[in-house]
Amino acid sequence: MSTLELYSPTDLNDALRFIEHEDKDVAVIASGTDLMPRMRKRQTSPSVLLDISSFTEDLRYIRQSEGTVRLGALTTVTDLLESPVFYGKLSIIREAAHLFGAPQVRNVATVGGNVCSAASSEDLIPVFMALDARAKLISANGERTVPLKDFIVGKRKTVMKSSEILSEIAFDPPEGHSWTAYEKLGRRNMLIIAMVNEALVLTLEDDLSTIRSARVALNRVSGKIPALASETNKFLAGKPLAPDTISQAQNVLASELTLTDDFRGSGAYRTEIAQVYLKRLLERCSRKLGGP
Ligand SMILES: Cc1cc2nc3c(=O)[nH]c(=O)nc-3n(C[C@H](O)[C@H](O)[C@H](O)COP(=O)(O)OP(=O)(O)OC[C@H]3O[C@@H](n4cnc5c(N)ncnc54)[C@H](O)[C@@H]3O)c2cc1C
Repeated sequence: MSTLELYSPTDLNDALRFIEHEDKDVAVIASGTDLMPRMRKRQTSPSVLLDISSFTEDLRYIRQSEGTVRLGALTTVTDLLESPVFYGKLSIIREAAHLFGAPQVRNVATVGGNVCSAASSEDLIPVFMALDARAKLISANGERTVPLKDFIVGKRKTVMKSSEILSEIAFDPPEGHSWTAYEKLGRRNMLIIAMVNEALVLTLEDDLSTIRSARVALNRVSGKIPALASETNKFLAGKPLAPDTISQAQNVLASELTLTDDFRGSGAYRTEIAQVYLKRLLERCSRKLGGP
């Protein structure tokens, strides 16, 4: 029988030194709401758990300086919901947090755990991608920043090295005539595991009817990983925000999605929902901006 060790470092530097030198398969554990169920189902079997949950002084914060919003990796979903920062243009974060699990899960589930799980059903990943967020990775040798759109490279695979910990997610609130919105569909009304979730950051020109830029992100664009709908975003830029544009964009979206069937729903159904959500998100943002 394999044994499981738990390492509780004294501080963040101790944690970073530990993963720098440890040869065994180490999994960082924050609150464990993703990791523990997967371990129980034997979907992952680390040899050592590195418990970072006590580093709240270093890693649990919501800061805003010179516009940039910074979320420490141990920020919980409840922290997001209770923060005064996520209103107006940034209400997309409140929307996603509100639709996340149930209060018991939200009270402990962390931003870092959500992003690092790299799962296709997570709520915060498409939201952060639409906001063009960056992930800050720290190691004993320093730090680096990776755009979130490049962070996930496969199903439950990220660019993080085994010697790195995610310490922060940062993003700049969208400028100008911008609004944000989020939609999520699951098979029940509570503890919803997303069948489709879609986020949009829309920026209009000063005429409030031409799209300057659109950043649509979904949790399963291709290869079952969350990603930006880059073809759709390219198509929408510079177009009038009109019914014809929206229906053409829905077709572009369907052509770039590779949604597959599983027990939660068929690929065809998911694609149709993603198209409906695209229209809904564009119309919701447009209404908020006083657009057509
Ligand atoms: C009942 C239930 C309902 C849920 N509902 C939702 C939901 O509605 N929406 C949703 O998005 N998710 C949901 N989840 C999944 C889970 O709660 C989230 O993914 C959560 O954000 C994970 O955070 P955590 O702190 O528990 O991460 P953990 O489980 O501790 O870790 C998750 C993964 O990230 C790694 N990791 C964690 N932190 C770091 C870090 N700082 N640096 C490097 N690696 C790290 C771990 O090694 C592990 O691989 C649900 C889970 C449960 C059990």
